[in-house]
Amino acid sequence: MDGPPKDVPGQCNARLFVGDDYGDNTATFRCPLPEGHDGEHVERFSQRNEADPDKPSGMVTVTWHYDDRMTCPKHGLQPGDWCRKCHEERRAQRRQQK
Ligand SMILES: [Zn+2]
Ligand SMILES: [Zn+2]
Repeated sequence: MDGPPKDVPGQCNARLFVGDDYGDNTATFRCPLPEGHDGEHVERFSQRNEADPDKPSGMVTVTWHYDDRMTCPKHGLQPGDWCRKCHEERRAQRRQQK
């Protein structure tokens, strides 16, 4: 997958950020259910059988409860699990202090 999943208008778009085993990356899931849906967030995707690519791919279903996206008290709902605007403000402040 290339880059973070895009928000789709009218869909829930809740995120789940999963750190990988080696800690060098994050896998992100995005919920395509309608906005404000009941129950768990869900994403389904097909997984290739790497050991035997001739076998049909299997479906994987991930469900999760809490939306991992951050709601910043100053900037509102963010696409990721941190607020880029706050981060940039803090960086600008540090530059001014020097
Ligand atoms: Zn959802
Ligand atoms: Zn913020």
